[in-house]
Amino acid sequence: MSTIMTEQIHLYNTLTRTIEPFVPNKEGKVSMYTCGPTVYHFAHIGNLRSYVMEDVLEKTLRYAGYDVKRVMNITDVGHLSSDADSGEDKMLMGAKREKKSVMEIAKFYRDAFFEDCEKLNIKTPDIVEPATNCIPEFIHMIEKLLGDGYAYIAGGNVYFDTSKLKNYYVLSNQNEEELMVGAREDVEEDENKKNKTDFVLWFTKSKFDDQELKWESPWGIGYPGWHIECSAISIKHLGEKLDIHCGGVDNIFPHHTNEIAQSESYLGHKWCNYWFHVLHLNDQTGKMSKSKGDFLTLSLLEEKGYSPMVYRMFCLQSHYRKPLVFSYEVLNNVKQSYEKLVKKIAGLSEEGEPEEEKMKSYREAFMHAIGNDINTSQALTVVYDVLKAEMDDVSKRALLSDFDKVLSLDLLKGQPEKGAGVDDDLKEYIEQKIMERKEAKKAKDFAKADAIRDELLEKGIELKDTREGTVWNRI
Ligand code: AMP
Ligand code: ZN
Repeated sequence: MSTIMTEQIHLYNTLTRTIEPFVPNKEGKVSMYTCGPTVYHFAHIGNLRSYVMEDVLEKTLRYAGYDVKRVMNITDVGHLSSDADSGEDKMLMGAKREKKSVMEIAKFYRDAFFEDCEKLNIKTPDIVEPATNCIPEFIHMIEKLLGDGYAYIAGGNVYFDTSKLKNYYVLSNQNEEELMVGAREDVEEDENKKNKTDFVLWFTKSKFDDQELKWESPWGIGYPGWHIECSAISIKHLGEKLDIHCGGVDNIFPHHTNEIAQSESYLGHKWCNYWFHVLHLNDQTGKMSKSKGDFLTLSLLEEKGYSPMVYRMFCLQSHYRKPLVFSYEVLNNVKQSYEKLVKKIAGLSEEGEPEEEKMKSYREAFMHAIGNDINTSQALTVVYDVLKAEMDDVSKRALLSDFDKVLSLDLLKGQPEKGAGVDDDLKEYIEQKIMERKEAKKAKDFAKADAIRDELLEKGIELKDTREGTVWNRI
């Protein structure tokens, strides 16, 4: 049997509450599931913190040599204003707010979400599946849960019976009261529930008769609960055993707790081994919420002159397991350091051969930092250490370009300063040749002008004629 070479990674696992070596089910392969956005409004920068850090996690796994398959859902139905199954469907709230159909809202905000992701260099997961695409899968799963006695019908809805589980609270050691706080927004009692923690798998009755999207089901026309979608979509694409599941910390309860309950009752065995949760980014007034009306978006930051990369760096400077408070003061500092960093890197020469031996210890330091429970701030320190190192510029460039596969900060986007890696004699020679070419063109000797351009090209110098005159670049 061949051995796949992968670097050892350690991750904090919410399930065991410890940092553990990461060992996937299949050697060299990782199945990863991410809770996607509820597309009833723009993502706020808190949501985007979660997606940035999950992106770093995915890229760390790839950097360590794993073949990652990542799936994300798009919540376009079933997520009610309270995570504990009460209130109005968030999608419907969005549609009413904007006087559009639910599907129009879903498309608009889904596109907006992926635009934000692209700006932030967040890789699109291998599979992105809207919940409304998977109604037959949800129905199938609910039928089995009912058949196996894990679910019941009451008042027209199908509920999961949490009393059937030995340990419903596997993901958390908090008590019920504390956990309910995580359920967000107003928590209302539903009299159909046998147990307080039971949750809806399929709604046919809700207080909101104008629910736009409804489907036929064995229990009547209705729509799925929010939690079932992630269990079913994950099992559909990633099979019965999942390596790692991620989301923001508010997802631990009830969403992920309910996902485990459904998936493991349906499958009859343990489902997911590692749970990765990103702590919240809050503003100075407290929690960020899309329903609050005014909230911080990536576009707002852009309007104020902060590039998405500055926000990404802001996220990377803190550990994902620490709560973060947003302030423009901190963002300004990050902006300054980011711009300085990119400029410094742009000034590195592109000449020479990488010195592999010297680069090795920096590669190890980077892997050690990022592989140690995704310690992004320590990984950034390694970036600065490389810049300070006694090493050829070209080796520094090679290292930083390598680290940027994980950090995705566009570290090398700065144009090399004109003349970087070009000695003074060559510079003088280029200027002289540009003059000669100008003369040749004036004299309509285009053959000579072209010959000069080609000769410089062979030396790795590209000429461009602009309105301001001829400029040159190293290629
Ligand atoms: P939603 O669109 O509300 O379903 O949330 C999308 C993702 O953002 C989920 O993984 C949430 O757990 C996460 N999230 C929500 N609020 C925050 C926040 N303030 N900071 C970080 N992540 C958040
Ligand atoms: Zn989910």
